[in-house]
Amino acid sequence: MAANTQKHPAPIDVDRLGRPLVGPCHLWVKAVDRKGYGVIGNRDFGSTTIQRAHRVAYALAHGIPLTDLRSVPELDHLCRMTQCCAPRHLEAVSHGENVKRGNVAAINGSKTHCKRGHPFDEANTRTYRNRSGGTSRACRHCQRDASRATYDPAARHDKHLRATGRSQQRGLHDQREVDQVADQRAIRD
Ligand SMILES: [Zn+2]
Ligand SMILES: [Zn+2]
Repeated sequence: MAANTQKHPAPIDVDRLGRPLVGPCHLWVKAVDRKGYGVIGNRDFGSTTIQRAHRVAYALAHGIPLTDLRSVPELDHLCRMTQCCAPRHLEAVSHGENVKRGNVAAINGSKTHCKRGHPFDEANTRTYRNRSGGTSRACRHCQRDASRATYDPAARHDKHLRATGRSQQRGLHDQREVDQVADQRAIRD
């Protein structure tokens, strides 16, 4: 394991919860998967599946048998380096907590306006518990607009026609009327 990692100063001094980061990163220098996690084939310990290197490192450090990697809990990289295998940079967390700590949450949490430019101030912000167990924000202004569109009778009628495919039929019907008028004109002329 050690031969496949390279010591590297951690890119940050403290983790997201403000705790000092202990020791350097041990970056996996072999294959990584699409998400940037180091991967290791674990033929040597009784299986042919590919494992994430940091999970193997955690198991080694915590006395979890390598034949039972499934019992390694979900891990958060305190250093934010997905290639890092330093056991002290890995913390066992619940899935909900991991997602909450994720960068997506951090980025969304720092936005001051919704995507249509309404302010995320106290009056305009509705907070709710999302499916990952974290907290999300919604713009009241946009939600009002959305529900108004839903209850606009004309918009609803159009939507209904689109959904049932009648607008196409109505199109044909209109065309027939146009033809009839044209025919009548032709007769008159
Ligand atoms: Zn690290
Ligand atoms: Zn908005």
